[in-house]
Amino acid sequence: MGQIVGIDLGTTNSVVGVIEAGRPIVIANSEGTRTTPSIVGFTKDSEIVIGDQARRQLVLNPKNTFYNLKRFIGREWDELDEISISVPYNVKSNESGSVRILSPNTGREYASEELISSLIRKLINDAETYLGDTIDSAVITVPAYFNESQRQATKDSALLAGIKVDRILNEPTAAALAYGFEKSSSNNVLVFDLGGGTFDVSLLKISNGVFDVKATCGDTQLGGNNFDSKIVDWLAERFLAEHKIDLRRDRQALQRLTEAAEKAKCELSGLQKTKISLPFITTNDDGPLHIEEDINRKLFESLCQDLLDRLLEPVQIALDDSGWEPDEIDEVVLVGGSTRIPMVQQLVKTLVPNEPCQSVNPDEVVAIGAAIQSGIISGDLRDLLLNDVTPLSLGLETIGGLMKVLIPRNTPIPVRQSDVFSTSESNQSSVVVQVRQGERPLAAENKSLGKFRLSGIPPAPRGIPQVQVAFDIDANGLLEVSATDKTTGRKQTVSISGGSNLNEQEINSIISEAKSKANEDRKKRSVIDRKNNALTLIAQAERRLRDASLEFGPYGAERQQRAVELAIQDVEEFIDDDDPQELELSVSALQEALFGLNRRFAAEKKNDNNPFQGIKNTFGSLKDELFSDDYWDEDPWDNEMNSNYRNSSYRNSRDDDPWDNDYFL
Ligand code: ADP
Ligand code: MG
Repeated sequence: MGQIVGIDLGTTNSVVGVIEAGRPIVIANSEGTRTTPSIVGFTKDSEIVIGDQARRQLVLNPKNTFYNLKRFIGREWDELDEISISVPYNVKSNESGSVRILSPNTGREYASEELISSLIRKLINDAETYLGDTIDSAVITVPAYFNESQRQATKDSALLAGIKVDRILNEPTAAALAYGFEKSSSNNVLVFDLGGGTFDVSLLKISNGVFDVKATCGDTQLGGNNFDSKIVDWLAERFLAEHKIDLRRDRQALQRLTEAAEKAKCELSGLQKTKISLPFITTNDDGPLHIEEDINRKLFESLCQDLLDRLLEPVQIALDDSGWEPDEIDEVVLVGGSTRIPMVQQLVKTLVPNEPCQSVNPDEVVAIGAAIQSGIISGDLRDLLLNDVTPLSLGLETIGGLMKVLIPRNTPIPVRQSDVFSTSESNQSSVVVQVRQGERPLAAENKSLGKFRLSGIPPAPRGIPQVQVAFDIDANGLLEVSATDKTTGRKQTVSISGGSNLNEQEINSIISEAKSKANEDRKKRSVIDRKNNALTLIAQAERRLRDASLEFGPYGAERQQRAVELAIQDVEEFIDDDDPQELELSVSALQEALFGLNRRFAAEKKNDNNPFQGIKNTFGSLKDELFSDDYWDEDPWDNEMNSNYRNSSYRNSRDDDPWDNDYFL
């Protein structure tokens, strides 16, 4: 059997780690560097180049050199924002709305999964050379907020490269795994990961080898690239003002500007000022033009203020979600090359009072964590457990359009939750399970992940059939939903993969929207609740009336029955009105009338010499049995009336409180 490795498949750089002699190490690539640029290109001769080689042709061959591919993985064209598609190569949508990348040199278009699989193949080839052994599976890391289709697409890329994925691991979790390795004390840890293209914040509780992710948040469209762009814009604007030429319109010039900007940015992490020189950047009528600029740290920082602001909110949300105060954080782990920017480090210090821990190399920590996870899987390392959490609440739509949450946000995974639902109409033969993800109480406001129908439910009154709906999330965050009719055992299952396409910004906006609309939603929800409750009460009252006419005959409890009938009419009249008070009044009148009728039943039960025998006479001594608890287990009859009775008895035993928490589909 071949070996297993851990891969940090970064937006900008990828790193491979492995367990050697019981310790995680990073494997250098064939060029001798420990990180490989996540870049794939095609030369003039249509030959594929990957990593450093591809990076080298960025300037001369921008249309055939593909970077930032991770922004496209598992995403539809419609989901991409301006920043993601403003790359010097051609990205387009195919007929089915998927993202395709064009290479003029090969004359072909590629899915991002295909190009990323070439990158994975190179990483694996190089690692196999180093290890002198074959590798057949891997642990691959992804940003915490990757949705199901992005995770699935990452797996697919590895499969295309001939590698089985043993585990998809969240990057910040991997970082914490690396950090917590060999540490036994109990710690609350904040992982702050700012890479080239993504930003993740995670709060973890680590104790005695157990990693528990309490909350995660971030921004998939924020990273070191954005800092580069600030310098690019600054350079381009100055050039435009002086020469009336916008260099950003010239692909090659833009690529050179970007490279120079990144270099300057990295230098400014260690130096106070640096020089940017780009000779022969373009030409005008007077001849060649050059860029020669000084930039200092202060200027760079002033250009990037808004990016700093964007880093704040996800940290705040994650803290809120975890319920921790900043001073409850024991350790802060900085991950990703961009955490070397001094002002980013400063910002982290203003958020959490402790000094960030820098004993872990920010470029390698994720790959080290992935290697550790691979060691746990292969059995080379033991005694470590790992829990991730769900980023958003998962639930389903119930009658009236309400969201019933089965798995709340930030629940540790893997997890399985189920609940019992029933029909909202009598003789309803199927139920629709509409799976949704989000924080709003009204289902329609949350993202639909898919729906399916469970049919073949035997005819029965509203609320009788019992449908068990279960949500199962595996360790990779992939969701499976099943619905089982408890009477027939009929079952329907769907795997929700590729159904969800929420990115992290969407997740954040969903959470903040839910917060801001909380009041409005509460009102809408209470209208629906009131209506549902009124319907439940009517159904219950109607059953009680049927019981009463059997029990007492048409006139036996005429006054009480009439009162209930009238009260039902009132409730029905107000049910669709907008006046909550009228509905509430009519509902309490119906409750009161029902109470009167129920008292009549109680009196009847006590009174042996009841003169109003009614239909009871027909059934003789069965009456008492009808209301005894164990009656229905005996199942003495086998006809229609029996099943109605059975149902009403069953409902009565559950329906003492009409405002109970039944969920109807
Ligand atoms: P990813 O996880 O997205 O692959 P990395 O963690 O490798 O990214 O970080 C890459 C980013 O870090 C790039 O934007 C790079 O410019 C930036 N970076 C690397 N070194 C430094 C540095 N010394 N100062 C500032 N930024 C840096
Ligand atoms: Mg990274």
